[in-house]
Amino acid sequence: MAKYTFVGGIHPFDGKKLSKDKPITSLKAGKELVYPLSQHIGAPAKAVVAKGDRVLVGQMIAEAGGFVSAPVHASVSGTVKAIEPRRTVTGDKVMSIIVENDEQYEQVEYHPIPDWTKATADEIRAAIRDAGVVGMGGAGFPNHVKLSPKEPEKIEYIIANCAECEPYLTSDYRRMLEEPDKLIEGLRIIMSLFPHAHGILAVEDNKPDCIRLLKEKTKGDPSIDVRPLQTKYPQGAERALIFATTGRSINSTMLPADAGCIVDNVDTIVAVYHAVVEGRPLIERIVTVTGDAVKDPRNFKIPIGMSYAELLEADGGFVKEPEKIICGGPMMGFAMYGLDVPTTKTSTALLAMTHDEVSAQEPSACIRCGRCVEVCPGHVMPYKLSICAEHGDEEGFLKYNGMECCECGCCSFVCPAKRQLTQSIKSMRKLQLAKRKKK
Ligand code: SF4
Ligand code: SF4
Repeated sequence: MAKYTFVGGIHPFDGKKLSKDKPITSLKAGKELVYPLSQHIGAPAKAVVAKGDRVLVGQMIAEAGGFVSAPVHASVSGTVKAIEPRRTVTGDKVMSIIVENDEQYEQVEYHPIPDWTKATADEIRAAIRDAGVVGMGGAGFPNHVKLSPKEPEKIEYIIANCAECEPYLTSDYRRMLEEPDKLIEGLRIIMSLFPHAHGILAVEDNKPDCIRLLKEKTKGDPSIDVRPLQTKYPQGAERALIFATTGRSINSTMLPADAGCIVDNVDTIVAVYHAVVEGRPLIERIVTVTGDAVKDPRNFKIPIGMSYAELLEADGGFVKEPEKIICGGPMMGFAMYGLDVPTTKTSTALLAMTHDEVSAQEPSACIRCGRCVEVCPGHVMPYKLSICAEHGDEEGFLKYNGMECCECGCCSFVCPAKRQLTQSIKSMRKLQLAKRKKK
């Protein structure tokens, strides 16, 4: 079996065995749901409800605040209790709509497109936009914007990112096994927006059952092929994936569309299916709850807006005191300081570990071994960049192509001196991105 891959990368312990074999469990929401108005990249959504209003499941409660924005919908029926700033996973306070769940689950009427194969591209994009679909792998980029490139006829590949290379995460794996038809039809819907697009389902070869199933389901359809990827982190990083599957390279100043590609992850493509075929807005998602500190690692289908604390409680709580709780995976997720914060459209996982390897390590001086350079998928020199970042040398950071870093964490992972390379590079990148935005 030919395997597609990129240059660099690492093989961390994958931890997927903990949760991969358990079917997705649906969860009911608790008493209070919190919907931050910024769950996506771009302008915050604007509330269209007021305190005291009754809302229904699937009702739009905040409209898009601009073209690069996304509406927010209620995932329960109930009453708007407040519109106020609430703490989110990042620790920031974000204006949010708080809904008291009446547990009636009364729903608005959905308006699907009767036959999407006869719909225009604009009608399909509008359905995706109105459903509030954003990149659910963590980026939160409004999907209708991604699917509206300047020159649609130049898009040649729609790549379904089924790599799920982040250790411990298994939500995409379960979705592929349990709802492959939605994934494939969602991919076909996206392909229909581009006259010359070929579909690729890119799956790491540590999921042979998914590869077999998707191949079987797409047999006889020459417009889609399943490409097995070598299992290696960060195989699912956008630039690495585009290179692995098409041989094309992009840099930090380019969009995938500049290389004729559109990349969407599994959950996002299924959300497109829900939006178009069922008229259903984005109000639920799959979240992996895992780690050696949780009672029963598995995947949950959750109503967006429920708190991480409720999610953990539904799983039976901690069996051991966690030393570290992470929102997302161990490589690209971030440490959480409390669980009383809401899940959002971009919540992928709750990972609780009894041992925090990173904080137990004391960094020492660089020994110039070059391992960080060998594994870097961005083809930069992490040791040099981290020195520039630590000294506030912005010019040097840009000269050594610091913006090409995808913040994957591979360099920190292999560094024998335990230097916090990714952390310092990330801070400098954040500063530079803010400057770029200002310009
Ligand atoms: S420099 Fe950036 S892209 Fe390269 S390995 Fe480190 S985190 Fe990954
Ligand atoms: S891996 Fe660590 S010790 Fe080796 S060159 Fe990079 S920063 Fe220095």
